[in-house]
Amino acid sequence: MSQIDTLPPLREVIQTHDLRAKKTLGQNFLLDLNLTLRIARTAAPLEDATVLEVGPGPGGLTRALLVAGARRVVAVEKDERCLPALAEIAAHYPGRLEVISGDALQIRLADIAGGGPLKIVANLPYNVGTQLLINWIACAEWPPAWQSLTLMFQKEVAERIVARPGSKAYGRLGVLAGWRCHASLAFDVSPKAFTPPPKVTSAIVHLTPRAEPLACDLKALERVTAAAFGQRRKMLRASLKPLATDAEERIVAAGITPTERAEQLSIEEFVALANAFAGAEATFS
Ligand code: SAM
Repeated sequence: MSQIDTLPPLREVIQTHDLRAKKTLGQNFLLDLNLTLRIARTAAPLEDATVLEVGPGPGGLTRALLVAGARRVVAVEKDERCLPALAEIAAHYPGRLEVISGDALQIRLADIAGGGPLKIVANLPYNVGTQLLINWIACAEWPPAWQSLTLMFQKEVAERIVARPGSKAYGRLGVLAGWRCHASLAFDVSPKAFTPPPKVTSAIVHLTPRAEPLACDLKALERVTAAAFGQRRKMLRASLKPLATDAEERIVAAGITPTERAEQLSIEEFVALANAFAGAEATFS
């Protein structure tokens, strides 16, 4: 394993600071700095960017982001045991790394942005990863405070994020991501790359905001996708029936054939459905 900087190898950092992985915090650490550099480069160019890293742990990805030239990295870590290791990295790259001790779910991007584009890069804790992604995509203002998201997920979740209509993985997450973003799979990461190894393969997803998102209300979009994919084998006229007494008329008004099924609809068609069902009274039959 070749060196990317002159700081100690991560295995040594983990030993020195006694950073035994905690399951409750979703800790699976990447020790191969060439791999973390590959993740950092997926978010390039970083030279004039502020990078928000969620869950730096012992700092493998943090170091790669700094080596890849990030002007400023703000790293939010919940596990206080990691702070001394991260302080060593900050001392090695004066003025470029700021560590926030806390919960990423509580962080406001507006407090971090400033000075160049904001890019979010993270080997996310799996237990909060999807929630963070939804928060970043569903933010009130568009374009968002961030310019790109480069994130690690379990491969099965990554496939759902980038899924296209007609595929088995296509569902609520794919519609939500496609509604506001261009999303692509960058590469897979084997369980062997982590310490301890997780049970499944992971993958890096790269998302950039659509310049002009399709206009609709997020809550309405969530309601129709939840109903349609909740009963994905049913025709829309049946699966959307609980949303309105005149569901079938609304589906037709959206320009969609009521006998279609959720997984056949494009993102544009889901947006049309969301607009057609906005303000509908639910039926409780
Ligand atoms: N980035 C490191 C790497 O690639 O080796 C660690 C990745 S590990 C999968 C996830 C990290 O997120 C852990 O360090 C964990 O303590 C941290 N974490 C878990 N929940 C968090 C939260 N809500 N906010 C911030 N960090 C969190």
